[in-house]
Amino acid sequence: MLATAEEIRLDDRVTDFVMKGRKLLIGGRWVDAASGRTFPVYNPATGEVIAHVAEGGKQDIDRAVTAARRAYESGPWPRLTPSERGRLVWKLGDLILEHLEELAELESLDNGKPITVARAADVPLAADLFHYMAGWATKLEGNTIPISVPYARGAQFHAYTVREPVGVVGQIIPWNFPLLMAAWKLGPALATGCTVVLKPAEETPLSALRLGELIQEAGFPEGVVNIVTGFGEPAGAALAAHPGIDKVAFTGSTEVGKLILRAAANDLKKVSLELGGKSPNVVLRDADLDIATKGTASAIFFNHGQCCCAGSRLFVQESIFDKLVGGVADEAKKLKVGPGLDPNTQMGPMVSEIQYNRVWNYIESGLSEGAKAVTGGRQLGGKGYFLEPTVLVDTKPSMKVIREEIFGPVVAAIPFKELDDDLVRAANDSVYGLAAGVWSRDISKAHLLAGKLKAGTVWVNCYNIFDAALPFGGYKQSGWGREMGHDALDLYTQKKAVCAAL
Ligand code: NDP
Repeated sequence: MLATAEEIRLDDRVTDFVMKGRKLLIGGRWVDAASGRTFPVYNPATGEVIAHVAEGGKQDIDRAVTAARRAYESGPWPRLTPSERGRLVWKLGDLILEHLEELAELESLDNGKPITVARAADVPLAADLFHYMAGWATKLEGNTIPISVPYARGAQFHAYTVREPVGVVGQIIPWNFPLLMAAWKLGPALATGCTVVLKPAEETPLSALRLGELIQEAGFPEGVVNIVTGFGEPAGAALAAHPGIDKVAFTGSTEVGKLILRAAANDLKKVSLELGGKSPNVVLRDADLDIATKGTASAIFFNHGQCCCAGSRLFVQESIFDKLVGGVADEAKKLKVGPGLDPNTQMGPMVSEIQYNRVWNYIESGLSEGAKAVTGGRQLGGKGYFLEPTVLVDTKPSMKVIREEIFGPVVAAIPFKELDDDLVRAANDSVYGLAAGVWSRDISKAHLLAGKLKAGTVWVNCYNIFDAALPFGGYKQSGWGREMGHDALDLYTQKKAVCAAL
């Protein structure tokens, strides 16, 4: 029996944090929005207001960009040695670990995710990202390059490259992994010496604001990180279009990604995008069925399916289709759905009423177009935005549930005959190309298939394995650029070639 959201007692530090009206972090100070306005933040397990947060607008973005520019050009920040910068980034990772319980609780309260997941994954991964990136601060090297210059025979040159920070960065993040997405964005930006204006999602601003306090505690100079909470329009749009920003980094929907690109086009800002997905997850008949059943269920139901890389199109070879899909349905039925803060909960509510209705509309559209729900397909009544984990069969390639990103706990299982070009074509038949999964005991087949899937990440006999050292990003309309790993440094640095005649 799971507790109701009302029965759960919060950590005093979390209660104190949400009780106080939360402000914007601009130039090292917590300030009200220029308009004086605030907006409510909701607990998705109850639909009730848990906090009020400053509603930043265009003017606040302007103030934050000015502060970030000042910190980039003239503050103590550009004078720090790489080692000093790296130590600050490392310290932030340490502080996150010191506050692990508090941050996990805040994340679970605000986003609805199970506290056990926030504790084991979101918060430690965020800390690890800062620790990983801290090491890069001292390793941003260039090359010396022997050059020939055919039209200057006899002349001698000394040529080399240096990596410099890209400058002032605007970062816009989503609500599905609020703290972790802030870390993916801030870690490489800070390690490389950029300054930042961060806009968290309106649904889940709390952990980023607490992170802002930890950033101050770590000792980052004022203005290096500015945090402006508010809505996509006007705050996010103003940030993407601001002429004082050198680069925009965005994670969210492909639709908004395209808006960001248009806004940034005016002055040709650098842009990196981590967008949607409709990832194929392919189970071959020689897979270990126990492992594949649990793995493919978790590939879609982890984080309530609110993952850009969720394995939402499950391709299963015909001879094992009924067994595997039945097993995934059993896993779905076993999931304990409840408030994220109950330690026994395995799946929490959708993040917001809007997301709940969006996912529900997809389920209805699938069922009305002729798909069948092997399990799920119903709303769970009562307070909060709870949906049953759902497994659909009998879908057609043209259905919305197959073509569009649902971003909820809904998987469509699709049978296939052989591991051939038809399967590869079907798996790649999407505008997205973020991730894919392959389940097989035959390692050659698995690697051959991995090579043919058009996706930025392919997991073999596993899914949702993330690491600060492993690059992540999309093919096709799933995005531009790679986050994490040393690839992320390319997003936040630019190379200068210096050529001296000797
Ligand atoms: P959005 O893409 O709208 O939101 C992501 C971020 O962008 C938020 O901070 C949002 O602000 C901001 N934003 C919204 N509009 C603009 C704009 N015009 N200019 C600049 N920034 C903007 O995602 P939603 O929250 O609306 O979710 C919709 C769908 O997007 C989901 O169902 C899912 O399919 C996909 N999605 C994908 C994610 C991923 O990880 N790839 C993450 C989240 C969603 P705010 O929310 O504060 O208004």
